Amino acid sequence: MLPFESIQEAESALGRGLSTAETLWFNYSARKSDYFLYCHNILFLFLIFSVVPLYYIALELFFRNSVSPYKIQPKVRLSLSECFNCYKSVMRSFILIVGPLQLVSYPSVQMIGIRFGLPLPSVWEIAAQLTVYFIVEDYLNYWIHRFLHCKWGYENIHKVHHEYTAPIGFAAPYAHWAEILILGIPSFLGPAMVPGHIITFWMWIGLRQIEAIETHSGYDLPWTPTKYIPFYGGSDYHDYHHYVGGLSQSNFASVFTYCDYIYGTDKGYRYQKKLLQQLQEGLKSNGDLNGVPSENHKAD
Ligand SMILES: [Zn+2]
Ligand SMILES: [Zn+2]
Repeated sequence: MLPFESIQEAESALGRGLSTAETLWFNYSARKSDYFLYCHNILFLFLIFSVVPLYYIALELFFRNSVSPYKIQPKVRLSLSECFNCYKSVMRSFILIVGPLQLVSYPSVQMIGIRFGLPLPSVWEIAAQLTVYFIVEDYLNYWIHRFLHCKWGYENIHKVHHEYTAPIGFAAPYAHWAEILILGIPSFLGPAMVPGHIITFWMWIGLRQIEAIETHSGYDLPWTPTKYIPFYGGSDYHDYHHYVGGLSQSNFASVFTYCDYIYGTDKGYRYQKKLLQQLQEGLKSNGDLNGVPSENHKAD
């Protein structure tokens, strides 16, 4: 809730006129409690989990021939009812774990100093903070994910997420309840280190989930804008981790590739890529590329 009765009062407190975005924010948030604004996260997550994976389902349903060359594991196709079952499981976790966690975590948001008022952050401030959040989350998530691949962690917690050896968008948040809770820590650490505005926080939670859905989509689409982000892993990178499964000691990072490179846990992936490249070059020199998808890591 903003401590101003009117836009004029806000402008005199700031010593300048409000920007268009700030006027919109004033009109929307002035009479809403900070807790209510924070709980918008629940609605955003519900919409993202429900709507974004539909993009990949729609591509498969209506543009199958066009997107087939970009399917990472072309021999594995889930039926619509299997996709819907995955969505139902995710929604169950959402209602029982993610939603309640959002409801009770408001004091921690207050404690770290997320702000709800005016002025709004600049585009540069938002971009810089989101970059920090992604880097911090990626690093901590890497080590937690490695721990979850030890025998105990995998058998008791992480194998649920690996039930999908050829993941789909809906399977991005599909995990044991303990994993959902544990992986909330790296998501929260960036905002705790560099607290920003609630709008930045909303964007962070939303973008991280959209990124996770994309990396689990099962498609390595050439027009994906994330391909232009330096050191970005993407769907092909994480799909390999699911393809290898519980034995995987490769591609632990959630967003970028540098952790796996530095700590030497991308060797299996790079070896497979190299083999495929050699196979394709060999076939090309024989004038026959039939049946070998150029970008797919599973050519068998
Ligand atoms: Zn894993
Ligand atoms: Zn995964």
